[in-house]
Formats: sequence, C-alpha cells, structure tokens
Amino acid sequence: MEKTFLMLKPDAVQRRMIGKLVQRFEEKGFELIGAKLMRMTMAQAEAHYAEHTDKPFYGELLEFITSGPVFAMVWQGEGVVAMSRLMIGKTNPLEAAPGTIRGDFATDKGNNIIHGSDSPESAEREVANAFHPEELLIFDPFLPKLEA
Ligand code: ADP
Ligand code: MG
Repeated sequence: MEKTFLMLKPDAVQRRMIGKLVQRFEEKGFELIGAKLMRMTMAQAEAHYAEHTDKPFYGELLEFITSGPVFAMVWQGEGVVAMSRLMIGKTNPLEAAPGTIRGDFATDKGNNIIHGSDSPESAEREVANAFHPEELLIFDPFLPKLEA
C-alpha cells in the first residue's frame, strides 16, 4: 500500500498546530502508521533535502528545519502521495489555494508549515531517514490483536 512522509515543520509545532493538522489527514480517511515528535539532526536534514543542495535557500532551509522539534508522520492509503500534496498546497503559501494547509495558515516561502513527499520513491527514502522500521505499524486489519 502506498505511503507518504508528512512532517509538520518547526513553525507548525511552535504555533501549536499539531492536532489541527493531523485531524485533516485523519478526516480525509488515510491511515496513520507512525508518528513522533523529534529534532532533526543536521545529517538527517541534509539527507532529507539533498535535492536542494545547490539552491540559494539551502543553508536557511537546513537552519530552519533543525531549529526546533518537528512532528514526523507516515501515512498510508491509495493515492496518499498526490492527495496529501494537494491538501498541502503550493510551496509558496501566497500561491497556495485557500482550503489547502499552506493556503490557510502560511504566508512565507520558507516557513510553510508542512512537508509532504513528492513521489512514492521519495517517501521511501524520507521515511527511512526519519524512522526505524519497528516504529511503524504494519497496517493489516487481519493481524490478530496483541494481548494487553
Ligand atoms: P515542497 O516542500 O513544496 O516540496 P520544495 O521541495 O521545492 O517544496 O522545497 C523544499 C522546501 O524548501 C520548501 O517547502 C520551503 O520550506 C523551502 N523553499 C522552497 N523554495 C524556497 C524559496 N524560494 N525561498 C525560501 N525557502 C524555500
Ligand atoms: Mg519537495
């Protein structure tokens, strides 16, 4: 089943938006299979944003993403990569449509609240960069329930 890596950035955590943002994806109907509050190490930040090494904003991006805790999540569902990107909205919040997360809650290109993987392949790499496999549920409704 398709998975994506969603990460509430330090601005979202600082603004106490974790609950509200998680709720959007729960209400849509996707399955949360892993989540944690964490501080990205510089090495994790560099790996996560490796495609942007040559961009003028790379330094500022690393500084921002390591500046405070992030809320990292793995969501599962059919079409979850593309749909979560739609729900997040365009990178520049001033171009993001109202009703999207960035359209509703942000104005700044850098401090734009949330990250979402751009493909299933990126998701696999980004999940592995932030989670140990045992931190994720194997989401199978037919698995027997664990004894208390
Ligand atoms: P997205 O997060 O929508 O996939 P990108 O992968 O293009 O966007 O960029 C990664 C992150 O880098 C963005 O979410 C944003 O935080 C930051 N960023 C992108 N473009 C700029 C810019 N022009 N100035 C400052 N920060 C930027
Ligand atoms: Mg991106």
